[in-house]
Amino acid sequence: MIPDRILMGPGPSNVAPDVLAALSQPLLGHLDPEFLPLLDELNDRLRQVFRTASPVTFPVSGTGSAGLECVVVNLVEPGDRVVVGVNGVFGGRLAEVARRAGAEVHAVEADWGRIVDPEAFLAACREHRPALAVLVHAETSTGVWQPVAEVAAALRDSETLFAIDCVTSLGGVEVDIDGWGVDAAYSGTQKCLSVPPGLAPVTFGPRATERIRSRRTPCRSWYLDVTGILEYVSAEGGRKYHHTAPISMLYALHAGLGVVLEEGLDARIARHERVGRMLQEGLEALGLPLLAQEGHRLPQLTTVGLPDGVDEAAWRRRLLDEHGIEVGGGLGALAGRAWRIGLMGHTATEANVRKLLAVLGEWLDG
Ligand code: PLP
Repeated sequence: MIPDRILMGPGPSNVAPDVLAALSQPLLGHLDPEFLPLLDELNDRLRQVFRTASPVTFPVSGTGSAGLECVVVNLVEPGDRVVVGVNGVFGGRLAEVARRAGAEVHAVEADWGRIVDPEAFLAACREHRPALAVLVHAETSTGVWQPVAEVAAALRDSETLFAIDCVTSLGGVEVDIDGWGVDAAYSGTQKCLSVPPGLAPVTFGPRATERIRSRRTPCRSWYLDVTGILEYVSAEGGRKYHHTAPISMLYALHAGLGVVLEEGLDARIARHERVGRMLQEGLEALGLPLLAQEGHRLPQLTTVGLPDGVDEAAWRRRLLDEHGIEVGGGLGALAGRAWRIGLMGHTATEANVRKLLAVLGEWLDG
């Protein structure tokens, strides 16, 4: 028997009953005429959630890191310059993947918990004139909400493509790919979309698609090569077998996106904002410090410091054992002294916030 948890960590989040039901539907083959319209509708739903009209929008088979690799290896060729903002784990991962793709990487660093300064980032782009520039929109290791719109606007007419990591932002805070003029983005299913981990939605706009079409060298990954994947994913591609699509996960994502759109993107974003701020105010009222830069705190992921002398790992374990609540520990510089509390998708409710604050209040008093 698997216990029922309240998943208030950095992901996965809890899953809506419709999504669990979709996972138990009978299997179809990936070329079944009943399955392909579902895939088309799923990609249409993804376009609505990313707010893009791009036909090159689909879920990569794999977790968020597969989406990250997909964007990097398709848009970068060996010897290209790449500028990456690094202020936490996931910016660091992007830089490493770009390096392994053969790029000359220029990291624009900021302290963990602070945003990457957009001006410094743009200055690095003017200096290095990279093929690709990437920022993490929602840095899950710190809870920082990175401004990206002004960077997208500034790079729109340059030769640099601009991509963002929306793993933790999509479906939780505003993401407006076409409105901002972002060239490529990737996400994951297990955060604010509230679908189990296993797929990585990606989107490539017209400039990125043209870059892929005119590559000088083949994409270094066969599995993640967008050109090959599109031969299956898009009707124009001829529906050729590429790899066996993870059918049940695609059912789940289709259902999860249905839940998102039924709630409405704006209403969902407002719910995350309301519930996240309620948690943050409650933690401050308990005397606990919020660690992300003020004014740039994600509502769906809060990093909070614990008092000296508290064994944070023991408290997390007790929270899980006694109350069935999972929260995350700090990573990197925050390891051992902070918690990461997620309020993503289905988990983002006032009732969950009240429950956690009540337990913490009792423990801090005792
Ligand atoms: N990028 C960000 C911002 C993330 O939060 C994560 C996962 O937490 C990833 C990338 C990698 O995603 P995954 O762990 O699903 O491979």
